Amino acid sequence: MNFEKIKSDIEKFVSNRKWQDYHTPKNLSMALSVEASELMEIFQWQMENEKAYPKSASKEQVEDEVADVFFYLVRFCQIMNIDLEKAFYYKMKKNAEKYPNQIK
Ligand SMILES: [Mg+2]
Repeated sequence: MNFEKIKSDIEKFVSNRKWQDYHTPKNLSMALSVEASELMEIFQWQMENEKAYPKSASKEQVEDEVADVFFYLVRFCQIMNIDLEKAFYYKMKKNAEKYPNQIK
């Protein structure tokens, strides 16, 4: 994954469609939640312990929603001047301290 290219491609995609004015923190955080909900909807009626793709959805549908979530997360970070990679690893460090390694 070339994250710098992805970020650049997203900026170009948004700019070419003149969507910048719509990309406020409120709108993007809501769009991120909506796309995460679309992902959840695919698995909504699965049994708790099922691990496969549901019969009602293709892998491509799941991939589409994952990509939508990723788009809005990256775009939200762009407009909020958040270094996503740095934020991710900092939070992982905090998670590791909160949830210690169980394998000795
Ligand atoms: Mg979607």
